[in-house]
Amino acid sequence: MDTSTNSQLASLRQSLESRLSALQAELLAAQRARGAAQDEPEAGDTKDLADRLQHDELDEAQVHRELGAMAAIEAALRRVDDGSYGDCIDCGEPVGLARLQLLPAASRCAACQGLHESRWSRRSE
Ligand SMILES: [Zn+2]
Repeated sequence: MDTSTNSQLASLRQSLESRLSALQAELLAAQRARGAAQDEPEAGDTKDLADRLQHDELDEAQVHRELGAMAAIEAALRRVDDGSYGDCIDCGEPVGLARLQLLPAASRCAACQGLHESRWSRRSE
């Protein structure tokens, strides 16, 4: 990304950082909620337990997603620092400002991201 985009880079950095702290706050709140649930006295029948386990699974999936999003944001912030932010990690072409404003943690241009996702979806079939 060239120096004429410094102010845009600063605002993208800001949105990355605010997203990261929002996710951290969410995870902390989820952890606290889970801690509180575990402190509950044991009570209820199997159905209650099943309900609780289901909730735990949902939480875990959510936590997993949020950790993944945080890792992507942290990686993007590292790229801001080393100057490679805004360049596609696959082809090296600019990711594009519009795409970065929509997805500040994007590490690939739209074309490479599409290829990447189709590779993954084929693999999981
Ligand atoms: Zn690319």
